[in-house]
Amino acid sequence: MSEIGTVLVTGASGYIALHTIKALLDAGHEVRGSLRTPARGETLVEILRRHGSDTTKLHFVSADLDRDEGWAEACAGCSHVLHIASPFPNAPPRHEDDLIKPAREGALRVLQAAADAGVKRVVMTSSLAAVLSGRDGRDGSHVFDEEDWTDLDADIGAYEKSKTIAERAAWEFLEQLPADRRPEFCVINPGLVLGPVLEKDAGTSVEAVLKLMRRDFPGCPPLGWALVDVRDVAAAHITALTAPDAPGHRYLCAGEHVWLQQIAEILDREFGPRGYRIPTGRLPAALLRLAALFDKTVRLVLRDLNLRHDIDNSAIRRDLHWNPRPMEQTVIDTARSLIQEGLVTAP
Ligand code: NAP
Repeated sequence: MSEIGTVLVTGASGYIALHTIKALLDAGHEVRGSLRTPARGETLVEILRRHGSDTTKLHFVSADLDRDEGWAEACAGCSHVLHIASPFPNAPPRHEDDLIKPAREGALRVLQAAADAGVKRVVMTSSLAAVLSGRDGRDGSHVFDEEDWTDLDADIGAYEKSKTIAERAAWEFLEQLPADRRPEFCVINPGLVLGPVLEKDAGTSVEAVLKLMRRDFPGCPPLGWALVDVRDVAAAHITALTAPDAPGHRYLCAGEHVWLQQIAEILDREFGPRGYRIPTGRLPAALLRLAALFDKTVRLVLRDLNLRHDIDNSAIRRDLHWNPRPMEQTVIDTARSLIQEGLVTAP
C-alpha cells in the first residue's frame, strides 16, 4: 500500500501547483486542491484533461490564505500537504503587507490545520528569495546553500520579504508545537521557475521568456537567475513527501545561474530560423530603469540588475535524488508552450 494517501495541494490554480497536481495524478495519487475561487475548478479539470491527465482522483475545496474558514476541512483525512499557495504578483503591491500577511498567516493557518488533522508530513514552497535576496555573489566569493537566509534589513522587495517571513514563521511555529502534534516538515526553495505553461493564464514566472518572444524589449538587460524547470520543481515536491532524510530540511531547488542574454540566445537558435525575432543584444541597465517608469513588472527586477547568484544544490540532489533537466530544454519548452497556448503569435 502506498504511504501516500490523499495529498492536499494549496493554491491549485497556480503554475507550480498545477504541474504538481498533474504529476501526482499521473502517479495515481488522490489529490485535494484548495482554491480561493472555487469556480476555477472546472477550468482546471479541463486543462489537466487536455494535457492527458485522468482527473477522477482530483477534488477541490475552498480556502483562502487570508481566512480561517475551510482549512480544517481541507486538511481533514489528508496524509500529506503540499503548501504551495502564496501571492506572486507581477507588479509591486500597494503595501508590502498585501503580500506578507497572506504568505505568513496563510502558512500558519495551513500548518495549524495540518497539525490538528494529524497530517504526517507538510512540504512548503518557499523560494531562493528567502535565501539570497539583497546579496550579490557576483565576485564568486559566496556560493549560497541551505544555511543562507535573506537579510530582512537589506534593501529587498515585498515579495522577498513575504517569502522570508513566511518560511521563518513556519519553522518557528512548528518548533513550539508539542512533538506528538508536530507534522514532519520540509521546505523547497526554488529559483526562477520556467517550463511549459499549461494554460493561457501564464503567471509571473515566465514573464522574461514571454517578453523576449514578443520582443517587448530591443535587447537584454543585465539580469540573471538560478533557473529551474517547473516539472523538476513538481518532482522535488513529490519526492519530498516521503524522502526519509527530508524532514527538518530546506532544499535549494535550482540549477546554474543564467543571464537573460543566454536565454535569448537559446531562443534565437531554436526559433530564429522560424521567423521569430528574438532580441539578443545587450540593453544597458539605464534603459531598463527608464522602462520601469511605464512597466510595473520591470519595477520588480530593478534591484536585481547585474546580480549573480550561484547556489550549491548538492543537498537536494542527495536527499531527494533530484536530477534536473538541462536548462536549454526548459527554455525551449517554455517558449513552445507560450506559442501553443496562443500567448505568442506566429511571425
Ligand atoms: P502563481 O501561479 O501565481 O500561483 C500562486 C498561487 O497562490 C495561486 O494558486 C494563487 O491563487 C494562490 N494564492 C495567492 N494568494 C492567495 C490567497 N490569499 N489565498 C489563497 N491562495 C492564494 O505562482 P507560482 O509560480 O505557481 O508560485 C507558487 C509558489 O511558488 C509561491 O509560493 C511562490 O512564492 C513560489 N515560488 C515561485 C517561483 C517562480 O519562479 N514561479 C520561484 C520560487 C518560489 P489564485 O489563482 O486564486 O490567485
